[in-house]
Amino acid sequence: MPSAADLTRAFAESVVRRLRDAGHQALFAGGCVRDLLLGSVPQDFDVATTARPDEVRHLFGHRRTLAVGASFGVIVVVPSKAEREAGVVPVEVATFRTEGPYIDGRRPEHVSFADAEADAKRRDFTVNGMFLDPLDDRVIDFVGGQQDLAARVIRAIGEPRERMAEDKLRLLRAIRFAATLGFELDEETRSAVREMAGQLTVVSAERISAELRRMLMHATRRRAVELCADCGLLEVIFPELTPVLRLGKLGEHSPWERTLRALDVLDRPRFESSLAILLHSMTGRDDAPSMDEHCRRLRLSNNDRETAVWLLEHRHDLDAIRHRSHWFLKRLCAHPDIIDLISTVRALRTAAGESMADVEHVERFLAETPRHVIDPPPLLDGGDLVALGLKPGPEFKRLLDAVRNAQLDGTIDTDEAAIDFARRLHAEGVADTKDRP
Ligand code: ATP
Ligand code: MG
Repeated sequence: MPSAADLTRAFAESVVRRLRDAGHQALFAGGCVRDLLLGSVPQDFDVATTARPDEVRHLFGHRRTLAVGASFGVIVVVPSKAEREAGVVPVEVATFRTEGPYIDGRRPEHVSFADAEADAKRRDFTVNGMFLDPLDDRVIDFVGGQQDLAARVIRAIGEPRERMAEDKLRLLRAIRFAATLGFELDEETRSAVREMAGQLTVVSAERISAELRRMLMHATRRRAVELCADCGLLEVIFPELTPVLRLGKLGEHSPWERTLRALDVLDRPRFESSLAILLHSMTGRDDAPSMDEHCRRLRLSNNDRETAVWLLEHRHDLDAIRHRSHWFLKRLCAHPDIIDLISTVRALRTAAGESMADVEHVERFLAETPRHVIDPPPLLDGGDLVALGLKPGPEFKRLLDAVRNAQLDGTIDTDEAAIDFARRLHAEGVADTKDRP
């Protein structure tokens, strides 16, 4: 059985062949060429062509195409239903173009259709600027990409300062590619990034977060963060890290060095865990914004924000957990992000040279305890309290929590016992609310 990657490649080749048969020039372009030449598997394929967007749509049919970026000349060609079910991903077909002028440091004023060479030169880095003819296996390289690929160097196409000034996201992209590919930054390109780092602020938070996400999800996240710090970009994205970074220069046992080590050993590629680790050393400082605030500034989704905040707030919950009550452990283990909390804490503890006993205790408990024991159906809900004649209000939650904790501890296990317990707590006017995960 061919893999989804093989089928995706075959589909992309069929797109090229169809364009070619209709008399157009058509080539693989950009990231997929780089990945193929490196011997790695491209996630997706981009095709560049002399065909105009309307010609592409006409050729593949309106039902099989999406005009997502028609103003840029980009048409998405969608595989058949059977192919999609086999994991084949759509191919972006873009008309060769030049872009310009760039006035706001983010996007071109307009694009115009052009030839392959001009299209190569509008791209960001030489290793991203090559074409490949997949039908006769020929590389078309106007920018010296093959040489830089062999030397493992990220180099801006053309004059680095000019290219970074056009679109300031390229400052961050230079680092992402250097880190994820394990390449060096060309000296001129690096100086340009250093000098211009402060200008990243003109780029939208969404585009910055998208790059940050890709850097932090990748196993090379430590190097990405180090390069960002070294070039001054990290302080632009997170100004409040500045004091931690300064202390970092003091070496080996500094909080910053520990942060880097933790990022390095993190064993699950989760954005939220990485972000929690990256920012943990500056929270707790009075002047530092909360994790919630950082996530809002980065315009993360509510889901991502809530997870990152939860991970950071609960990173000490595993401390001495063997001596905490049963309900505390169960509530923690019932949380949807517990696996990420465990890997976050494991990374932080490894980096600090601390014991793994608590982490292993929780892992063992999770592995050995059935779900219905960790998170059994509640014995009591708000409706039951109303039936008892209580009025909805803050006490409700306290009572429900207290009953829940007693249930998880195993001190009550029937509806009757739960009602009895709630009634008693209400009469005494006490409800244990401490330590709720
Ligand atoms: P990845 O495999 O990480 O997706 P990629 O090279 O495919 O890497 P994309 O962001 O998907 O990166 O962009 C596809 C191609 O478009 C790049 O290889 C590059 O040629 C060009 N490109 C993308 N963004 C820019 C930009 N900001 N400036 C110039 N060229 C760009
Ligand atoms: Mg891509």
